[in-house]
Amino acid sequence: MAIERTLSIIKPDATRRNLTGKINAKFEENGLMIAATKRLHLTRAQAEAFYAVHSARPFFNDLVEFMISGPVVAQVLVGEGAILKNRDIMGATNPANAAPGTIRAEFAESIEANSVHGSDSAEAAAQEISFFFAEIEIVA
Ligand code: UDP
Repeated sequence: MAIERTLSIIKPDATRRNLTGKINAKFEENGLMIAATKRLHLTRAQAEAFYAVHSARPFFNDLVEFMISGPVVAQVLVGEGAILKNRDIMGATNPANAAPGTIRAEFAESIEANSVHGSDSAEAAAQEISFFFAEIEIVA
């Protein structure tokens, strides 16, 4: 399988509970390497732009409010099949459906406050990585 990059965000519910290290351990234990990392507090405009694909969904406004409610940690994860692997490590969107051992099963508070974001395709990964990082900041 090819080496890929994917974009991960540790969401405000997880930074608020100081879970960044525990979540990063899940990535590293499962063969993903953190090639770039940035802690930031998104503006409303940035959160709306990042989640523009969901702008017509009923949960959009609440999601934006949640994403600007505290700091996030944006990261580039690198590894074999990193996009799908990260989705497996994250678990299902709704923690009630997330497999045991996944980040969302262990840490998520709700379907909204579900601790992590992960790109869901190669196209999304490229676009989302460039949203947060310049090439010079990504060191694999
Ligand atoms: N979300 C929500 N309510 C829903 C579905 C999704 O609040 O009914 C939020 C949740 O934080 C989720 C994000 O919107 O992670 C993006 O939704 P998506 O369906 O893309 O899920 P993901 O790819 O994050 O698993």
